[in-house]
Amino acid sequence: MSAADTGEFDGLVAIVTGGASGIGAAIVERLAAAGASVAILDLNPSPDEDSATRLSVRANVADDASVRAAIDAVVARFGRLDIIVNNAGIGAQGTIESNDDDEWHRVFDINVVGMARVTRAALPHLRESPSAAIVNTASIAATAGLPQRALYTATKGAVLSLTRAMAADHLREGIRVNCVNPGTADTPWVGRLLDSAADPAAERAALEARQPHGRLVAATEVAGAVAYLASPRSGSTTGTSIAVDGGMQELRLRPE
Ligand code: NAD
Repeated sequence: MSAADTGEFDGLVAIVTGGASGIGAAIVERLAAAGASVAILDLNPSPDEDSATRLSVRANVADDASVRAAIDAVVARFGRLDIIVNNAGIGAQGTIESNDDDEWHRVFDINVVGMARVTRAALPHLRESPSAAIVNTASIAATAGLPQRALYTATKGAVLSLTRAMAADHLREGIRVNCVNPGTADTPWVGRLLDSAADPAAERAALEARQPHGRLVAATEVAGAVAYLASPRSGSTTGTSIAVDGGMQELRLRPE
């Protein structure tokens, strides 16, 4: 039995947005291993993900009708909803001069408003759950002043604030809301960035060397934190975040 095979999510239903890749895919596997039925809401869902306890729905978190239809499909299939992991997100590079208004609206619409849309559609069902939890994927970017990431960091700062506001609004309804702040994680997203470099292997080595613990964060490590925040083990924890970043946020360490 692995550490994840606890059965603590037996009978519960989770939605993971952006669950077809990277961090989201690791969260899907982690929650499923602990007994949850899991629905993946993703722009590019895997076609072979349907089983008695797994559903993959094509959905765009930037489109309200698409989100509502997806939530309806999940509840129609599984009959309940207990855990929402708002994880879908996209990157944006550059300073405030590099991104025009349309780009600001597009990225905010996915990274921030997308969380509001999914949560809004899910809340009536979460209110029926005895163990409702929402976990949002923010980023180390929420608190760090990363260069060349103005728009992206603004969206993740907003996720951090939104998490606190949602936690306050729904506390007395028994719905906990927290977020995870991953550091640079080894996902297809980061792989694509590395592949676009002249020397991907050298770029990866340099990126690893910039992490306080000398390596990229594993998506499974983020998934472990999400599973904790989604479970009754964190029943007195709401409105806060867990950094999964090798110490970047709290220790402010940099390699010598
Ligand atoms: P990824 O690109 O590997 O996966 C993202 C998934 O989200 C994809 O399956 C994609 O299809 C889906 N998606 C994108 N836009 C969508 C939309 N409009 N509607 C529905 N699905 C959509 O990325 P990842 O690295 O796993 O990142 C996942 C989350 O983690 C993001 O919110 C990202 O900001 C955050 N994050 C990533 C890192 C990192 O270093 N990888 C670090 C901190 C935070």
